[in-house]
Amino acid sequence: MTDGRDDLVETDPFDFAPLRLTVDLQALADNWRDMAHRSGKARASAVVKADAYGLGIEDCGVTLYHAGARDFFVAAASEGATLRPYAPEARIFVLSGIWPGQEEIFFENDLVPVLASEEQLAFWMSVISERGPYPCALQVDTGFNRLGLAMADALALADDVSRPASFDPVLVLSHLHSGDTPSSETNRQQLDSFRQVSAAFEGIESSLAASAGIFLGSEYHFDLTRPGIALYGGEAVNGVANPMRPVATAEARIVQIRTAKAGETVSYGATHRLTRDSRLAIAAVGYADGYLRNLSGSGIPLRNAVPQSAHAFLNGHRIPVIGRITMDLTIFDVTDLPATVAQAGDYIELFGPNMALDEVARAAGTIGYELLTSLGLRYERQYFGEGDL
Ligand SMILES: *Cc1c(COP(=O)(O)O)cnc(C)c1O
Repeated sequence: MTDGRDDLVETDPFDFAPLRLTVDLQALADNWRDMAHRSGKARASAVVKADAYGLGIEDCGVTLYHAGARDFFVAAASEGATLRPYAPEARIFVLSGIWPGQEEIFFENDLVPVLASEEQLAFWMSVISERGPYPCALQVDTGFNRLGLAMADALALADDVSRPASFDPVLVLSHLHSGDTPSSETNRQQLDSFRQVSAAFEGIESSLAASAGIFLGSEYHFDLTRPGIALYGGEAVNGVANPMRPVATAEARIVQIRTAKAGETVSYGATHRLTRDSRLAIAAVGYADGYLRNLSGSGIPLRNAVPQSAHAFLNGHRIPVIGRITMDLTIFDVTDLPATVAQAGDYIELFGPNMALDEVARAAGTIGYELLTSLGLRYERQYFGEGDL
């Protein structure tokens, strides 16, 4: 854009943004195809709730659609309405179900409610008795104690000959609570329960596995799998090398390089005292950007339990966070790097291909899901790969 003034050079704000996020749509599409392949005979859907795990539901949605996904899951109806134009022929399931007053958003956008409780089921029966047949899905709780009909109620519903003819469930689903821990016996218990549900709703598709469940093997796949985090490159299973391609790269620009003397302290609370003369890189990212305060090098209770602060990556080197992370700024120790490779204006990789998302998450005592969905509004975003087609 030149505003009609030809003395201005065209610039891309991404090139000088203090904070930037790169989303590799090719990697996203590859990860979906990988999950579809690992799903074997089952069809793979795509879970794009929470703005596609923070990476952008429009760009990610259209990419997954072009990769072949025809079933999508969102948490809220508003997310389904946002997705609809980007996934025109797809079935979009809304995991939190439907409230009275939301009928229009569902019907106008052709969204399928995943009925989550007896109340929702009763409301839905009244909706379809007026409107006529419209697809729905049923969530059944097999041990999570979050959403879903109780097992007994679901089995009774399956046998209920008096249910209205316009009642048209197209999917029954349940969710594993410990799929990320393959050794947990509860996976098999939930599998056994869900098999009963699936058999009772014979002729209706069934779905149990999220990303982690796909790795548990074909017994867990049923008709439709529901990968989320694995599509975005995150770790689905604990303690196993992550086979997915990284999708998101988050970078912060160095605002200033400071030199400081041994004995001086760093950041709020003076919780880090320098033991040597140091060079510090002050980067334009803070907890307001989802660079969680729990990633700090010191001065937070978590460091007593998990001694290692977050590290980031700069020009081939790993650099630690020192002191407390602040709202807009974070301090990295670059003393061990040659001066020529740590300069104001350089970009530090917070996570991405060189610094695993889940390693950073662990330093905050959390999971990659939370880092991605906390990214905030200040990132300049760039998408490349399939979405350019
Ligand atoms: C979030 C969610 C998924 C996706 O889980 P991942 O671990 O990200 O693969 C699947 N099913 C349900 C019900 C969910 O809430």
